Amino acid sequence: MEKTLKKENFNSLITGLKDQGYRTIAPKKDNNLVTLDEVQSADEIHLDHVQTNNSIKEYFLPKTEKILSYTLEKNKVSIEEPEGFAVKSVVFGSRPCDAASLPIMDKVFNWDCSDKFWVERREAITIVTIACDKCDNYCFCTSVGLAPDSKEGSDVLLTKISDDEYLVETVTEKGEGLIKGLETVFSDPVAGTPDRQVASVEKKFEIDKIKPWLDENFAHKIWAEFSMKCISCGACTFVCPTCHCFDIVDECTMSKGDRVKNWDGCQFKMFTLHTSGHNPRSTQDQRWRQRIMHKFKYYVEKFDNILCVGCGRCSRVCPADMNISEMLEIIATEENQKE
Ligand code: SF4
Ligand code: SF4
Repeated sequence: MEKTLKKENFNSLITGLKDQGYRTIAPKKDNNLVTLDEVQSADEIHLDHVQTNNSIKEYFLPKTEKILSYTLEKNKVSIEEPEGFAVKSVVFGSRPCDAASLPIMDKVFNWDCSDKFWVERREAITIVTIACDKCDNYCFCTSVGLAPDSKEGSDVLLTKISDDEYLVETVTEKGEGLIKGLETVFSDPVAGTPDRQVASVEKKFEIDKIKPWLDENFAHKIWAEFSMKCISCGACTFVCPTCHCFDIVDECTMSKGDRVKNWDGCQFKMFTLHTSGHNPRSTQDQRWRQRIMHKFKYYVEKFDNILCVGCGRCSRVCPADMNISEMLEIIATEENQKE
């Protein structure tokens, strides 16, 4: 189904969503940062940016959350499971690369067991993506098989067709239901082919060159060279829509406690520290290699997907100016030279 949406109707859209019981999350400007955050009206929405600082993942995998509470009384343990964590929501205006991360992450969260927190939130949240009409040098979606107007993971895709109008394409039944429920907000498209304003993202490397090189070069000196500048701050893993490591801790007294899931990251030295004191990844070159291997080799072998959508956030946020696409370009070139 195709419709159009005028910018002047954004307020009616957000009000209509609220009337139907949806929480709306959208890009919002706070000083110099644009973040995906809850909005109450369209006036708070900011769309003149390349990429939000945070990714969509925190609405499915929060930074921290209680996964159960327990009470010990004599020899009896009572468990209470959280409820109401899957809030009916619309993420409005996320980028196509963020949306594309969701079906990739579905694979790991439904792998050996189904993670109810992820699965129930996936059901409760509808994704209305806006195709990128601008990009920067950090973007490389086209190098990992995506595009600035990819539909993967979106329920509805909006594409700018003039300064004040968007083409609306429904991608899933869920998206179609959302549009039908708000019919007065949308218009029928005018005849003819609209001028879709979509960014042109340069292809930086051939993705097919990456895994064959990784397969052969676990012990290559390049890992030390790549990681020289890295200060192990972990910012790259926290902003990444596809990094999904977490830790589980008990916050408790003698008689009761909460079991809490917190984001963790492979770039932290303590991430792999064993109780014995042994650390299988005690140096930063080992940790950086792990990040690249996980995304471009191990996840591909296990789930047939690259664990990267080319959003460029990790490079934008890095205080040491580590640039993942430049490194992948070097790897692809090394692989080329073997031919
Ligand atoms: S953000 Fe940069 S410095 Fe920090 S862990 Fe990641 S690569 Fe290293
Ligand atoms: S690794 Fe970097 S570019 Fe790839 S999805 Fe994560 S943040 Fe984006």
